[in-house]
Amino acid sequence: MTTDTFSPGRVVILGGGTAGWLAAAYFSRTLKMPNIALVESSEIGIIGVGEGTFPTIRSTLANLGISEREFLVRANATFKQGVLFNGWADGADSYFHPFNLPIGGEDEALLPHWIADDSAQRPSWADAVTVQERVIRAGLAPKLMQDPDFSGPMNYAYHFDAARFADYLRDISVAAGVERIEGTVAQVEKQADGDIASLILSDGRRVGGDFFIDCSGFRALLIGETLGASFTSCGDTLFNDRALAMQVPYPAADTPVRPYTLATAHEAGWTWDIGLTERRGVGYVYSSRHCSDDEAEATLRRYVGTQGDALTPRQLRFATGYRDQQWIGNCAAVGLSAGFFEPLESTGIMLIESALRMIGDFLVPGDRDARDAAARAFNSHMAGRFARIVNFLKLHYCITRRIDTAYWRDNADPASIPDSLRDMLAQWRTRPPSRFDFTVDLETFLPPSYHYILYGMGFHTRLAAGAARYPGARDAQQAFARVKAASPGALANLPDHRALLDHFHARP
Ligand code: FAD
Repeated sequence: MTTDTFSPGRVVILGGGTAGWLAAAYFSRTLKMPNIALVESSEIGIIGVGEGTFPTIRSTLANLGISEREFLVRANATFKQGVLFNGWADGADSYFHPFNLPIGGEDEALLPHWIADDSAQRPSWADAVTVQERVIRAGLAPKLMQDPDFSGPMNYAYHFDAARFADYLRDISVAAGVERIEGTVAQVEKQADGDIASLILSDGRRVGGDFFIDCSGFRALLIGETLGASFTSCGDTLFNDRALAMQVPYPAADTPVRPYTLATAHEAGWTWDIGLTERRGVGYVYSSRHCSDDEAEATLRRYVGTQGDALTPRQLRFATGYRDQQWIGNCAAVGLSAGFFEPLESTGIMLIESALRMIGDFLVPGDRDARDAAARAFNSHMAGRFARIVNFLKLHYCITRRIDTAYWRDNADPASIPDSLRDMLAQWRTRPPSRFDFTVDLETFLPPSYHYILYGMGFHTRLAAGAARYPGARDAQQAFARVKAASPGALANLPDHRALLDHFHARP
C-alpha cells in the first residue's frame, strides 16, 4: 500500500461485546467482507447489560440472513412493543411510547385535531392513533404465529440476554469466516503517519490490519487512549451516571412476560424492568449527585420486593456523553467506546446499528483523501445523532410536573435544558410540533416519538392560531374512529406473548 492509497483489506475489530460481534456479523454476513478478525479478552469480559432494543434491530438481524426463531431461542429473546412510563409526569401517571407509528404514518396532520378536542372523553394521544397500548396492556404479542420472520401487524423490537446474544453473534460470524483471536491487547503500534499498524497482545502476538474498529467498551482503547479523541460530557443535562442491575427469576415457569419495557420513575432516577423468557432484568438508573449508592439500593429493593432478597445487585458506573471524533485515520469507534447515554429508550444498540451501516457505506478502497473525507462525514453525522438524542432523552424529564425531590426539580431547571430543545418547547406551547423542527436524517427518534412523549407527559399546546388553521379535521375524526374500530379485532386475534414465545421455543 502506498501512502496515497487506502484499502480496508483486513479489518480488525477490538472487542467481543454486542458492538464487536454485531460489527463482525454485519461485515461478514451482510456485506460479505472477506478478511475480518476480532480480538476479545476473556480476562476482561463484556459489560453484559443492554437488553432492550429498537425496531431497527429487525432489519439488522434479517439482513444477517438468520431466522427469527433461531435468534429468539439462542438469545433468550422476547418481544418489545415500546416503553410504558409510570410516574414520570406527576408521580401517579402512566403513559406509553408505542413503536407503532400513528395511523397515517409520520405525518403530523392528525395532531392539531386531537389537541383541539378538549372533551373529557378524549383518549390519550397514543390511544387515539394506534391500538398498540391496548395490545400491550392485554399482554399480547405483536405478531401471529404464522407471520413471516421479522414482521407482524404491530411494530416491534426485542428484549434479550446480552451475553447470549453476543455468543450467538460470535457463532454465526465465525461460521461466516471471521477469525476470532482470544487475547488482551497490551500495546498499540502506530505507523509514522499516525494510523494504527497493529495490536500487540500481552503474550507478544501481533495483530496487524488495514482498518480497525474500536469496540473495546468504555475503555475506548483505540479511539480514546491511542488516538486521543476528546469526550463531550452531557452530564449537566442528563444527570444519571450509575446503575444497579439484578436478574430476577420468575416465580413460576408460566409467569406472563411483559411485551414492553416498564420504566418507573423514582426519587433520583428510574427502574427498567424487562421480561425475558426465564427471568426479568431489573435495574435502577440514578444520579450519584442526587442519591447515595445505599439509597439507590434501597429503592431498587423496594421496587423488586421479596423476590430480590437473595440477590446482590451489580453496580455500573458510566459517563454520559460521546466522542466528537468517532473515526480518526484508519480507526472507527462503535458502541460504548464512541459514547453512551443512560439506557432510557435503548439508544446503545441502535447507535451501533447506525454506525455500522454508515461505515459499511463509506469504507471502500480509494485514496487517503477520500478516506479522510469519509471520516469527517461520519464524525459530523454521528455527533449530530448523539446531540439530538440528548434532546429526546431530556424531553422525558424536563416537562415533568414532579417537584417532590431535588432530582426532578433540577431536571426541569431551564439551565439544564439544551437551547435547541428549549426553543422547540417554547414554540410547542402555542403550536403543534412541525416536521421542520427536526433534521429528520439526523434524528434517531422521528417526530412521532416526540409527540408520544410530549403529550404522554401531559404537555399543553394551545392552538394560538385557532383550530381552523389546520386542514383535515374530518379526515382526522375518521382516522381516530378507524383506530377505535380496529381495537377489538387486534385484541381478539393476537396471541398471548408467552404463548407465542413457547411456540417459537417448541418448534423444531
Ligand atoms: P463491552 O460489552 O464492554 O465490550 C467490550 C469488549 O472489548 C469486551 O469483549 C472486552 O473484553 C474487550 N476489550 C476491552 N479492552 C480490551 C483489551 N485491552 N484487549 C482485548 N479486549 C479488550 N443499550 C441498549 O441498546 N439497550 C439497553 O437496554 C441498554 N441498557 C444498558 C444499561 C446499562 C446500565 C449500561 C451501562 C448500558 C446499557 N446499554 C443498553 C448499552 C449497551 O450495553 C452497549 O451499547 C452494548 O452492550 C455494547 O457494548 P460494547 O460492545 O461497546 O462494550
